[in-house]
Amino acid sequence: MIRDNLEEIRKNIAEACGRVGRNPVEVVLLAVSKTKPLDMIKEAVDAGQRSFGENYVQEIVEKYEVLGDSVDWHMIGHLQRNKVKYIIDKVSLIHSVDSLRLAEQIEKEAEKKGITARILLEVNVADEESKWGFAIGETIEVVRTISKFPHVHICGLMTSAPITDDSESNREYFRALRGLFDEIAALSIPGVEMSVLSMGMTGDYVVAVEEGSTMVRVGTAVFGARDYSA
Ligand SMILES: *Cc1c(COP(=O)(O)O)cnc(C)c1O
Repeated sequence: MIRDNLEEIRKNIAEACGRVGRNPVEVVLLAVSKTKPLDMIKEAVDAGQRSFGENYVQEIVEKYEVLGDSVDWHMIGHLQRNKVKYIIDKVSLIHSVDSLRLAEQIEKEAEKKGITARILLEVNVADEESKWGFAIGETIEVVRTISKFPHVHICGLMTSAPITDDSESNREYFRALRGLFDEIAALSIPGVEMSVLSMGMTGDYVVAVEEGSTMVRVGTAVFGARDYSA
């Protein structure tokens, strides 16, 4: 089942790329495995899936204990500063850097561990009250500030577009983030790389790919609906 789901998603990504003249190898599929058990992750691995997104620190720590670096872990959920130390050397990318203070904490913990943390800045592109992330208008200044942190490497931008039944309605947000991404890339800020544009979830990844996403974060369409009651 998971194998079929992954195949279907990869096909949809390839078709979306075809429509806009992109090469599908430019798009990484991140399987969002939050709340899902290890055996489902293993099933996805057996079907060729390499990269997994998780939202909760405790869950990453527990899953990492078993699977370690045999899969590629990404932190995509809101991260509290006092928990940075538990995951910083376990994940290959933190997508959800949503404040300068969090970036400062990541710098501190990365220095302690002698590593460089790879991060994305989360942008609240639809300016939603309920969402974390920087406003579009402040992002460039924040990039300039964090670019000077020696143990933090900015690799790109991330957003979660509004939840909607009509994925077309998020096209303008994806386009806006792509515009900001290109604008920052053109500034050639030393130490800043704009290579990852993380946008698109189960409901809207096809539109996100059409608008230039390089990493889609898909949970429900891979693993089925989540049950938070357990
Ligand atoms: C849960 C989650 C996803 C995946 O959502 P689906 O709709 O199940 O694909 C993607 N990104 C973030 C930040 C999430 O929290």
